[in-house]
Amino acid sequence: GSLSRHFSVTALNMAPISKETDFLVIGGGSGGIATARAAAGKYGIKSMVVEGKRLGGTCVNVGCVPKKVTFYAALIAETIHQAKDYGFSVEQTAPFDWPTFKQKRDAYVARLNGIYERNLANDKVEYVHGWAKLLSPNSVEVTLDDGTKSVVNAKKILIAVGGNPTIPPHIPGSEYGTNSDGFFDIDTLPKKVALVGAGYIAVEFAGMLNALGVETHLFIRHDTFLRSFDPMIQQVSVKEYERIGVKVHKKSQLTSVEKDAAGKLAINFKEGEGEQSISDVDHLIWAVGRTPAVEGLGLDKAGVKTNEKGYIEVDEYQNTSTENIYAVGDVCGQVELTPVAIAAGRKLAARLFGPEEFRTLKLNYDNVPSVVFAHPEIGSIGLTEPEAVAKYGAENLKIYKSSFTAMYYAMMKPEDKAPTAYKLICAGPEEKVVGLHIIGLGSGEILQGFGVAINMGATKADFDNCVAIHPTSAEELVTLK
Ligand code: FAD
Ligand code: NDP
Repeated sequence: GSLSRHFSVTALNMAPISKETDFLVIGGGSGGIATARAAAGKYGIKSMVVEGKRLGGTCVNVGCVPKKVTFYAALIAETIHQAKDYGFSVEQTAPFDWPTFKQKRDAYVARLNGIYERNLANDKVEYVHGWAKLLSPNSVEVTLDDGTKSVVNAKKILIAVGGNPTIPPHIPGSEYGTNSDGFFDIDTLPKKVALVGAGYIAVEFAGMLNALGVETHLFIRHDTFLRSFDPMIQQVSVKEYERIGVKVHKKSQLTSVEKDAAGKLAINFKEGEGEQSISDVDHLIWAVGRTPAVEGLGLDKAGVKTNEKGYIEVDEYQNTSTENIYAVGDVCGQVELTPVAIAAGRKLAARLFGPEEFRTLKLNYDNVPSVVFAHPEIGSIGLTEPEAVAKYGAENLKIYKSSFTAMYYAMMKPEDKAPTAYKLICAGPEEKVVGLHIIGLGSGEILQGFGVAINMGATKADFDNCVAIHPTSAEELVTLK
């Protein structure tokens, strides 16, 4: 009964933490867990993971997972709206029940936390809940939940501490805003939200909120968002966001934020030349990037070097400047994606602890596919057109483009039709595919398979030699002219 459960939990918490380990991993997020499980589960290395917050890290708790679940809710809201065009008599009589949705989303994340903990146990990784700090190149101080400190000596150490939302620029009242972590705490459906930023997070959140019926203001510093993406993606997505009703404030800058007695925010900003203001804002969300979580980590004590932005410097094998200390994931600031952290970690574990033939294993950071869960979805792999021009010269490139309306929208009113746009960038006489950029329904699912082909060195002819699947959007990619 409850007594024995209480006893076992207490006993577990009191289990003494090892004083020595072979492989100590700081951070139980995507990269840390994957590496520790590979080290212990595959190669039998005595390993420990120290995590200060919740197992699974950013992705599971305040990133990919709750984001994608919310994205699905937004898709359903859109589908309910579109169903009428297909002849269904669906009326959205009740507003979206955000509190129930949030409760279920939280429960799903909590379930995943449990699964991660069991997976660590199954692979015989020692899991310690607490905060770690380097004392030297091979010792770490762990502050446990009850405040006690313990020193662990480790033969090898992995730093996989990820990052945190960047603190926004200071303007009067900027502290009334929250960030992506706070987004997942919002427990009632807001009426009006303001977002600042122009990257993945700002664009994904703005699209989801807008689809769920929230008046959404997006403040960007330039004329477009997602400026690291191909220009076609920037143009199509910004235009579409404006069309679906996101209030995109271009070339804008917040000047101050005020909070009234009811807790609503007034946001004052410059847009172009003019001073403007919006009021009755429920939440202001800063999404201006992420900062590596290296503060207080004792990097200096271990001689681990960081670059000017605070990211840990690693070579192509994830070696830091200190022997036997490695780093993977967001804290290295290379490609900040969960599968990248996992892949780098698994390769590292194989290189360090696996058989001789793995000694030169490393992750290839080129041609990593990524998706922005925007409205519609965006997929991108390889070089953008400007990057390809810089690398190969415009005269050595052939660019194929297509834009169309997906068949799904054939039954719909013009205002319900989202665009699709594809671009294939090919280099050299053999027309090797060096970039693929897609926006449109289903792009998130479409990209993965094309990613395999591109990583195998596919040419335009290879694309064309694959028989189309009809009727799909993706078939356009193998019939481009
Ligand atoms: P993290 O997952 O951040 O894990 C680091 C862990 O270390 C944390 O749990 C932290 O508490 C812990 N820690 C830090 N310091 C210490 C310490 N001193 N002692 C002990 N523990 C410590 N990526 C995708 O691929 N697809 C997506 O759709 C996607 N969506 C995202 C949405 C949002 C809103 C955000 C913020 C990110 C998203 N990402 C997505 C990025 C993805 O979450 C990260 O790239 C990934 O989590 C990085 O893994 P990591 O192991 O490097 O760090
Ligand atoms: P990003 O680095 O992607 O984007 C932040 C952007 O905000 C900047 O590029 C900049 O764009 C803009 N910005 C910076 N400072 C300011 C400012 N003071 N005022 C206004 N705008 C500003 O960061 P995110 O936080 O969106 O995401 C972090 C990373 O997490 C991503 O790069 C991605 O790797 C990962 N992620 C992945 C997702 C996925 O795979 N689907 C989803 C979410 C996150 P500009 O210069 O144009 O103003």
